[in-house]
Amino acid sequence: MLEKKEFDIEKVIQEFEEVTKDAGRVQRETLKKILEENADTEYLQNFGLQGKTDPESFKACIPLVTHKDLEPYIQRIVDGDTSPVLTAKPVTSISLSSGTTQGKPKYLPFNEELVHSTMQVYRTSYALRNREFPIENGKALQFIYGSKQLITKGGLTATTATTNVYSSKQFKSTMKDISSRYCSPEEVIFGPDVHQSLYCHLLCGLIYANEVQFIFSTFAYSIVHAFRTFELVWEELCTDIREGVLSSRITVPSIRKAVSNLLSPNPDLADSIHRKCINLSNWYGVIPELWPNAKYVYGIMTGSMEPYLKKLRHYAGSLPLLSAEYGSSEGWIGINTEPRMPPEEVTFAVLPDVAYFEFIPVKGRDEEQNLDRNSSTIHYKESQPIGLTDVQVGEEYEVVFTNFAGLYRYRLGDIVRVVDFYNSTPKLKFVCRKNLLLNINIDKNTEQDLQLAVEEASKLLAAEKLELVDYTSNVDMLTDPAHYVIYWELNADANEDVLQSCCNNLDRAFLDPGYVGSRKSRSIGPLELRIIRGGTFQKILSHYLALGGALNQFKTSRCISSSNATVLQILCSNSISSFFSTAYD
Ligand code: AMP
Repeated sequence: MLEKKEFDIEKVIQEFEEVTKDAGRVQRETLKKILEENADTEYLQNFGLQGKTDPESFKACIPLVTHKDLEPYIQRIVDGDTSPVLTAKPVTSISLSSGTTQGKPKYLPFNEELVHSTMQVYRTSYALRNREFPIENGKALQFIYGSKQLITKGGLTATTATTNVYSSKQFKSTMKDISSRYCSPEEVIFGPDVHQSLYCHLLCGLIYANEVQFIFSTFAYSIVHAFRTFELVWEELCTDIREGVLSSRITVPSIRKAVSNLLSPNPDLADSIHRKCINLSNWYGVIPELWPNAKYVYGIMTGSMEPYLKKLRHYAGSLPLLSAEYGSSEGWIGINTEPRMPPEEVTFAVLPDVAYFEFIPVKGRDEEQNLDRNSSTIHYKESQPIGLTDVQVGEEYEVVFTNFAGLYRYRLGDIVRVVDFYNSTPKLKFVCRKNLLLNINIDKNTEQDLQLAVEEASKLLAAEKLELVDYTSNVDMLTDPAHYVIYWELNADANEDVLQSCCNNLDRAFLDPGYVGSRKSRSIGPLELRIIRGGTFQKILSHYLALGGALNQFKTSRCISSSNATVLQILCSNSISSFFSTAYD
């Protein structure tokens, strides 16, 4: 018998319709609510808002900021200041966002309001999805992982935003409401070793195979990673199920205990999985074969996840791929209202009641990029920010938001294109991340992150009286998994042991949690340091000048995109040695 749903799907859809129909009014009300609630905070008082809540006064008093501008405030919260610095409501923990500032992971305040909006987004998104792909009250095979939790000097927990959400009281009940109960015990989600957790997610998914309604991970790449791992461990999984004994590879006591409780010898299930696997052709359609009641595969598939779609489609066979919401550690932005849309075409309808949005028009991005083909950093002309309902279809903007978690006129650093409207709220296509240099999946490293990593690693050169002439980088997507390649030109020959140590130090010096996590889970391969012949950067300069570039405008490009075949060719043909990091072995 189906369990009674604890929330009303139609009501959720109706609420979404109402807020999107009158997005302009809802935006003004949302801003008013945020500013009233936080009127006495030090931040708003410092800028002299004096309790005003209208958009005009707000824009006149409060500056546009980046994370760097807010750091002194956030640092005080991290260090234990409990006065209302940014929010009236207490900051309950700290989120570590992807990307780093000054070589440190980016800290962000996390509070109950973010849990609340996350649950709202989950429910609305589920309600819209369920209209087109109804699911029974079963389970979901969720590849989700809690990250390590640090305690700050001020006693707050600091961890990834998703871990903060998974640890919240509401998470479990919302998962139940939206028929998304995970197969694995919590010990697996919060286990200290992601490899062991992944193995157990697969095992639990197989134990509950007939109940699984869909397959999920936050990002598409981690579903692909899960099934690449499945190809390697499937026979061991069958043995565990056949004998009812968990593999000795699972050594974490809490995970062993929790998963062993679910296992009992089941030779029939083991035989059936074995038979299905050996009949597959190169693992095509493994997901519907092993999870016959699954209706779809779900996760973020847009932006930097697009390169993983081909492999994901291969594993998913006939099952539809449904692309999930658009958000960040800082807060939510929009949801996919057309679950049937192929991921490449997915757009996000902005939720007018989760934050107050502004959009900075960006012009000339393409023209500039065409002019400076050596560069992958985006430069463009900016204009004054405009409101949510003032944006124009076809135009590109940088997203700015003000939310209930202490961010006021915060520049997210994402570029989006308006493609349509859903009622009166815009539908956005994610275009790219501004200022992002190195990015494979959830890792995000800027030009400054690369610079800091290179500075750190090249300290070893100074000790050897060597000098780094110049450097650049690229992402090698042709290896599996993809990896970062850093090119160094040195003023003299260096000892191989020193260069190997430099390579390891470089790899360790990228502190972005997305990178560190992906390196640990091996979804990003070992960093490669390539030493190039003396004079190579001179050759790149000559190439640039030959294209008509001006010498006084030339900047060494810090990342060479894969489309820049000529410069990559110059780098390749001048490589004299190559080192792979063993930092995460
Ligand atoms: P994080 O700070 O680690 O939470 O990463 C948030 C960033 O991931 C956003 O600012 C976007 O750049 C990217 N992102 C999140 N959701 C999506 C999505 N649905 N499509 C494309 N990019 C996304």
